[in-house]
Amino acid sequence: MRILVAEDEMKMARAIRRGLENEGYAVETVDTGDDAVFWATEQEFDAILLDVMLPGRDGYAVCRALRAAEVWTPVLMLTARGAVEDRIEGLDAGADDYLVKPFAFGELLARLRALLRRGPAERAPEIVVGDIVIDPAAHTVTRAGVRIELSPREFALLEFIAHRPGVVVRRSEILDHVWDYGYDGFSNVVDVYVGYLRKKLEKPFGSKVIRAVRGVGYVLEPPV
Ligand code: CA
Repeated sequence: MRILVAEDEMKMARAIRRGLENEGYAVETVDTGDDAVFWATEQEFDAILLDVMLPGRDGYAVCRALRAAEVWTPVLMLTARGAVEDRIEGLDAGADDYLVKPFAFGELLARLRALLRRGPAERAPEIVVGDIVIDPAAHTVTRAGVRIELSPREFALLEFIAHRPGVVVRRSEILDHVWDYGYDGFSNVVDVYVGYLRKKLEKPFGSKVIRAVRGVGYVLEPPV
């Protein structure tokens, strides 16, 4: 079982890591909200321990970002606050459970085990466009029943344009949603990734599904 721990207080982070590793968990630690979003969307974890008070994006924002990106990894929020409103905000943001600091490590373990038994909170429904089937929960794509291996970024791009098949999705929207608004890399990254997708999604099947609209963006169209 692999756990992502997002906690900016070094001592606390170290103690949690040590405690979890002693129990046989694999642990990755990050100390900012942005890093938490990055790791949790790029890699597979079985659960996330998420401190509310993090530099940059706080735990609530992290949780909302993950759920918006359809990352359903169970989240246990850690916080020094115990007010009912905070608890509600955490659960509204998509957290699965809530633990108030200071806590006994045994309680953290018990809550974590309960979350792991439950598995991902919600399973997003499959998206079907013609002979393409996208399963956001399992992160799998098939075309005509054939499994297609995509990188996480390629997957996110395909999933995003597949939400509105037949509708042109602007390049700027794709950049915002798939690369996040902080992205300041090269501007033709979308076109490059569409190229990658085409190689995997069109070439082997001999028919096009992604149409470029010059100067605007891309549209996913069911193959005819
Ligand atoms: Ca903190």
